[in-house]
Amino acid sequence: MKTLFEIKQLNMNYPVTDGLLGNITGYIYALNNVNLEIYENEILGLVGESGSGKSTLGNCILKLLTPTSGEVLFKDVNILNKKKNDLKNFRKKAQLIFQNPYMSLDPRMKIYDILKEPFIVHGIKNKNEINEKIQKIIKLIGMTDEVLSRFPHEFSGGQRQRIAIARAIILNPEFIVADEPVSALDVSIQAQIVNLLLELKKHLNLTMLFISHDLSVIKYISDRIAVMYLGEIAEIAPKDTLFLNHKHPYTQALLNAVPVISEKKKTKKIFLPGEMPSVQNPPKGCKFHTRCPYVMDKCRIKPPDFYEITPGHKVRCFLCEQ
Ligand code: ATP
Ligand code: SF4
Ligand code: MG
Repeated sequence: MKTLFEIKQLNMNYPVTDGLLGNITGYIYALNNVNLEIYENEILGLVGESGSGKSTLGNCILKLLTPTSGEVLFKDVNILNKKKNDLKNFRKKAQLIFQNPYMSLDPRMKIYDILKEPFIVHGIKNKNEINEKIQKIIKLIGMTDEVLSRFPHEFSGGQRQRIAIARAIILNPEFIVADEPVSALDVSIQAQIVNLLLELKKHLNLTMLFISHDLSVIKYISDRIAVMYLGEIAEIAPKDTLFLNHKHPYTQALLNAVPVISEKKKTKKIFLPGEMPSVQNPPKGCKFHTRCPYVMDKCRIKPPDFYEITPGHKVRCFLCEQ
């Protein structure tokens, strides 16, 4: 397996300011020393409760956010050090698909112009090349040319997400961060979009970081799965190992949790027993110790290492100390 991304010691602290003077009063520790590899041509699923840092990690990997410290190596080069022009090349190769296709497409633009925009941004002016590419991509997402002269509001959520996906892949990226790409869609449409992403992945040799609350979606699409808790990777393993032989008490709790559908947003949210600790003042020692049924004295004092218990299966828990 060839490594496409190597993420080293990544930290992201969002400053918290007081309203009036803008003085920094504290930090939200959204990512804590995250170390992670993403292999070429895999779909790595990223799961965890709301606020665990999934989107922050996805955005830092694409350098849409600048992390506080750490490295993001793409093909061995740290993209965090890249200057404007080099970064433009990287952006061509690494794209983001958002959760909400209603917000990610400009309502004033026709679909043709939405799909043409990435070419303009990257200085590609050859009209024939652009038109050929647009026609090819429209076919690939299962739509026809007649959609090109229409506006986003004329389409359903699923169709809009297809168009958003088309825009993300039109410049032949190698890597996609898909941040909850189906959570805002009706359940009946979700499977179609997930299958489309799987087909595109095969067809275009894509590597993907797929973020979701929904374990059934993650299980269906991923090759490996990383479980996040309070800004840390708690467990990572190949899919089957994670579902059949998980070791972290938090993974166990996630798998036992019944997802609750939020009526307002129509999205599933995971609710676990016990309160999520403050991200501004996270627990010392193991971050999960305030909710863990197996907590031991040492868990409250020092953080566990990330133990590799079998090749590719790592767990941040003293129960796996060898
Ligand atoms: P969700 O499942 O709800 O999308 P998430 O796992 O993607 O959650 P993040 O959005 O990465 O979590 O947020 C991690 C933490 O950082 C949260 O406590 C969140 O409130 C905080 N956070 C995220 N973005 C910002 C920001 N721009 N400024 C300040 N705090 C932020
Ligand atoms: Fe629970 Fe301790 Fe393992 Fe943390 S290290 S998950 S508190 S047993
Ligand atoms: Mg998020």
